Amino acid sequence: MKKPSGKPAELLLGAHLSIAGGLHRAIEEAASMDCGALQIFTKNASTWREKTLTEKEIRAFSEMREKTGIRHIAAHTAYLINLASADPVVRQKSRQALKQELIRCGRLEIPWLVLHPGSHMGDGETVGIGRIAEAVNEIFAQLPQNPTRLLLETTAGQGTALGKSFDQLAQIIEKISDKSRIGTCLDTCHVFAAGYDISGSNSYGRTMQDFDRIIGLEKLFLIHVNDAKKPCGSRVDRHAHIGEGMIGISGFSALVNDSRLSAVAKILETPKKRNGQNADPENLALLRELYLSGTAG
Ligand SMILES: [Zn+2]
Repeated sequence: MKKPSGKPAELLLGAHLSIAGGLHRAIEEAASMDCGALQIFTKNASTWREKTLTEKEIRAFSEMREKTGIRHIAAHTAYLINLASADPVVRQKSRQALKQELIRCGRLEIPWLVLHPGSHMGDGETVGIGRIAEAVNEIFAQLPQNPTRLLLETTAGQGTALGKSFDQLAQIIEKISDKSRIGTCLDTCHVFAAGYDISGSNSYGRTMQDFDRIIGLEKLFLIHVNDAKKPCGSRVDRHAHIGEGMIGISGFSALVNDSRLSAVAKILETPKKRNGQNADPENLALLRELYLSGTAG
């Protein structure tokens, strides 16, 4: 089949993969599914407990990257981090934890670290945005040589979570002194839950136009590709298998065929299992099919 000119032969796809058995095993798994990208946690994501990488782990990771040629690797920060918290103790712990996340990513030469901006817990948007920016500026200043770009993720806007509008993300980025170290990660389920329709090619087009006008597509470095169990604007974050949620096939077809985003890695965070089987291969196959049957736009 002849592809339209200007369309790369392959879609830059990946998934969030487990590091059980070693960080390098995630890269190996990505390669086994013919992925050019992946996302990992660099520690247990549900605790404050820190992890110091050993030289052996770093070497195994770097060797597997060489062996597979997979360079589009993102890390996701632990869930407890909340730079906008109303509690000063949590804010301080969050800064320490984010700093350690960046240090681990730097040692592993991971180019992107995804962060949920944070929840203001009733203190208000402006205060929350100020706290996030101040913390990021402080951490960047403490790690002047760190090579990893911090990506603020769009959120569904549950509770007082910031990042539910492109405007909020733009306001945080505005306040970051070194813009070369900051970017964004767009999660399809989150933006949809937050009220941005992307379920058809026209609505997808309008949402991306908004993103470009308010944040700028050049600040988009990663996409989380998830269908949504709950309707647009529900502000409820429940990921579904591709094509089985409220976003549906045409929204994902528009996304994977958007030639402006062909260099941006698309990472699945869909449920891991279906009928007891690993569901990633099927979700990846569906996205590849949409890509091959679609026309570049
Ligand atoms: Zn996500």
